[in-house]
Amino acid sequence: MVSEDSNGGPVGPSPSCPDCQAALDATGRDAVSFLLVDSLTVPVVGCEVHLEQFRLLCGLTADETAKLLSHRPAGGIQCPGCRRADQTLEHPVVQIGHGVAAVLACETHESDVIERFQAGLQARGQLPDGRPL
Ligand SMILES: [Zn+2]
Ligand SMILES: [Zn+2]
Repeated sequence: MVSEDSNGGPVGPSPSCPDCQAALDATGRDAVSFLLVDSLTVPVVGCEVHLEQFRLLCGLTADETAKLLSHRPAGGIQCPGCRRADQTLEHPVVQIGHGVAAVLACETHESDVIERFQAGLQARGQLPDGRPL
């Protein structure tokens, strides 16, 4: 009986992209970008390249083009939970190619964004651990 995962894939988020890792390490400072998709404004962390891929995927199933801001949007973040989210420690991280994107939102909006991301992946017919986009 085989009961040990001797050769499984990575369990936690461990980007092989050094820029993503650096961005994750810097969470809470200037590393945060803001993903605008439909009515959502969600703080996200990752390197430029992988956040751009994240944006594209989240935007695939959106009504309007998703946008990525490197600064806090003029109107601010509408949701108070998302506004405080960067002060809490646990946030989901999605894998994008060999990089990652961390979603620093409240629970509701984290799952909203991740659902969009997964819908985008399915629309493309690609898996998160597949080759880079
Ligand atoms: Zn990256
Ligand atoms: Zn929220």
